[in-house]
Amino acid sequence: MRYICLILIIITTSCKSSKNSNSNHDHRTHSVPACCGVDCMEQDGILKSFENIFYTRIDTSKLQIGINFFIVNRPLESYVETISHNINELNISFEGAIEFRKNKIHTLYSDHSLPLVYKDYLAGGDLLDNLSEGKAEAGYINVFVMETMEEEPGRILHGFTPLFNDYHEGYAKVTPEMDRLMVSFEGLEFNSSLFHELGHYFSLAHPWELSEEQKTVLGLLDPQEECINHMNYNCFVNKFTEPQLKQMKMFATTYRAYLGIQRG
Ligand SMILES: [Zn+2]
Repeated sequence: MRYICLILIIITTSCKSSKNSNSNHDHRTHSVPACCGVDCMEQDGILKSFENIFYTRIDTSKLQIGINFFIVNRPLESYVETISHNINELNISFEGAIEFRKNKIHTLYSDHSLPLVYKDYLAGGDLLDNLSEGKAEAGYINVFVMETMEEEPGRILHGFTPLFNDYHEGYAKVTPEMDRLMVSFEGLEFNSSLFHELGHYFSLAHPWELSEEQKTVLGLLDPQEECINHMNYNCFVNKFTEPQLKQMKMFATTYRAYLGIQRG
């Protein structure tokens, strides 16, 4: 039985605004410019494993969460720096709310692409489970970085995150299955998709899904603020608002505490 009630997707751009497609859609898929693709059924399992070498000393005065990265079908070495850059930028964007640290980085092989895994997942298939079985680790966020492809002109999937619709208490009960985030290589390289998916992971919705009152509460006070927000589809996104950060921190301490979060 599938636990998932809702899947939120991010399809970002390789650097053209996609805001014009933010309406008239089902909130799950999204149109944007192009990029590329492959991935998902694990073949030989882990080829390389750099376990624990990225540990940093835990500061118990902050919320700290470890992230495992799984690089699918590409050389791990090529992404060590990109992952470090993402972590550094994440910690700037989430400053005062949550601090992330790299835990492990693995290489996986798969025969399927990100869009195929997503479609299979929606259909109740097991490609994602096959990919992550024995790899996704309880107590951590597990990020699978996969190739994507243009499914139709101007339409590319750059990530998705399994979420419960309204059963937040369930996250602790269904871990690490509900701690798996999928992002494309391009999304990781642009420092965009992981931010966006973590926003979903910690309860945030897309701006266009919010009422005007909700936007006000979350500090999305004008079109410019909304445009550059990480929860938008736009390659110029660069921030979360302070109210969003507070909401994410509260959500993390309330419903994601099983991650080994340190409360401060
Ligand atoms: Zn999204």
